[in-house]
Amino acid sequence: MTTIEKVDIAIIGAGLGGAAAMALLYKAGFAVHTFEQAPEFTRLGAGIHIGPNVMKIFREIGLEQHLADVGSHPDYWFSRDGNTGEYLSKIRLGDFAKKEYGAPYITIHRGDMHAVQIEALPQDRVHFGYKLVDIEEREDEVLLSFENGQQIAAGLVIGADGINSAIREKLLGVEKPRFSGWIGHRALINMDKLRASGLEFEPCVKWWWEASRHIMAYATKRDHSEYYYVTGVPVDGWEHEASFVDSSREEMEAIFGSSHPVVNALIDATEEVTKWPFLNRDPLNLWSRGRLCLLGDACHPMRPHMAQGACMAIEDAAVLARSLTETGEENYEEAFRIYEEARRDRATKVQTISNANTWLKEPEDPAWVYAYDPMTVSLG
Ligand code: FAD
Repeated sequence: MTTIEKVDIAIIGAGLGGAAAMALLYKAGFAVHTFEQAPEFTRLGAGIHIGPNVMKIFREIGLEQHLADVGSHPDYWFSRDGNTGEYLSKIRLGDFAKKEYGAPYITIHRGDMHAVQIEALPQDRVHFGYKLVDIEEREDEVLLSFENGQQIAAGLVIGADGINSAIREKLLGVEKPRFSGWIGHRALINMDKLRASGLEFEPCVKWWWEASRHIMAYATKRDHSEYYYVTGVPVDGWEHEASFVDSSREEMEAIFGSSHPVVNALIDATEEVTKWPFLNRDPLNLWSRGRLCLLGDACHPMRPHMAQGACMAIEDAAVLARSLTETGEENYEEAFRIYEEARRDRATKVQTISNANTWLKEPEDPAWVYAYDPMTVSLG
């Protein structure tokens, strides 16, 4: 790309939400480009749940089958007492989810899913090594300046640039996200060690202790050849500058030791484990202004306990693309209004329940999350 080129729509960030927005807007015929700060993406050690609500969007993008072939298909989301193993809830997924919610529920390695998303994009429209550092709103365009010295003029700008969003900062001022008081440990487990225990490791299970401490454990591949866990643990503070630091099996034993035998085996099989602070913001009172619009974590970051943060980012992308398609890009203010109206209540509700960490601990009907169809939901 040469200096000062004009694009109709610029998406900042090619994360899970930005990549979905790019795919959908491109498919809808918009002249859209994505600018991503990272020079490339690597397979970070983490898993993710993708609910039927979002698999319907991947159906539209043409990636549903591909992701379904890669990911694991749990029949249930179990919640269990971390000490006794007692079942607190058994939420039906598997074939039930396909039938009742209209698409499969999968758990998958986050890097595998993201790679599938990125590979499917028109490669000449995704620009890596473009870190946005300045935004100038002009009468009929927005001038974007990148750290690499390039400048791009854009008709519209979508901030899909995550929790530390530069676009959010432009709209609402500098404000660091808040540390939620919770951290998560993340580990991919050595399968040989796991199997050697002779115990059964369910494909999707959340283990609970007092004060809502927990371990969410699940398979990330269809053949269950990879197993992953993420914890939620309240702590007094987070003193590190880095977005994550190393943890250890010893630290895991200190927190979760002497639990149910399956949990003990999970911790015994832990080789590498990292810990991450969970950051937060209150719901924003502004989702767009003029030619700038937010989606995903830039707009409504949440603690990950509902496994729906990325799903909300991808749902945002779908509804925003539909809104722009309906109004035409020249009526972008109307499109942004329709988008916010369709998304605000749902995203805020998910953000609130996710932060409360109560989801599926007791038997409950998850249909309002999973049966939702962002491709057909009515736009005001
Ligand atoms: P991101 O995925 O953060 O992407 C933002 C992108 O913008 C990045 O690629 C970044 O490099 C780029 N960027 C940032 N600044 C700039 C800039 N200035 N210029 C250019 N590019 C920039 N969600 C689920 O749905 N299911 C789960 O099971 C789940 N589990 C989770 C477990 C943990 C431990 C955590 C922490 C989160 C989990 N989430 C889950 C939430 C999910 O990861 C996020 O909600 C999701 O990644 C948000 O997507 P996004 O596209 O908005 O932002």
